[in-house]
Amino acid sequence: MRIDGRCHCGFIAYEAEIDPEKVMICHCTDCQTLSGSAFRTTALTREGGFRLLSGALKTYVKVAQSGAKRLQGFCPECGSPICATSEGNDPKVYSIRIGTARQRDDLIPKAQIWCRSAQPWVTGLSSIRQLEME
Ligand SMILES: [Zn+2]
Ligand SMILES: [Zn+2]
Repeated sequence: MRIDGRCHCGFIAYEAEIDPEKVMICHCTDCQTLSGSAFRTTALTREGGFRLLSGALKTYVKVAQSGAKRLQGFCPECGSPICATSEGNDPKVYSIRIGTARQRDDLIPKAQIWCRSAQPWVTGLSSIRQLEME
């Protein structure tokens, strides 16, 4: 499935070819910190299936306890997280942060990972009082 998206300020624009069966929620603590939220929603591309249409990503290298490095790409102007990928120049799989995708309403998560670090209230969102903001 082809998607496209942009950061909040519009400096970054991209298109990607993602697998709609690989749309996931990640509850790991790194995703909580890096997204500034309770969890992250991502979609995996096919190899090489990400293309910048404008701007240039700033990259932060996250080192896992295992030593594995993940490149975290974000907009240098507004800080919107855009994608993550591995090091190197081979065709790579990208993990797109789907809150930036124009088609995000159609990208329904198929799985949740790192559930042991999930915030306990996320499974009961519908029980939290709902208010509409103007
Ligand atoms: Zn931006
Ligand atoms: Zn995560």
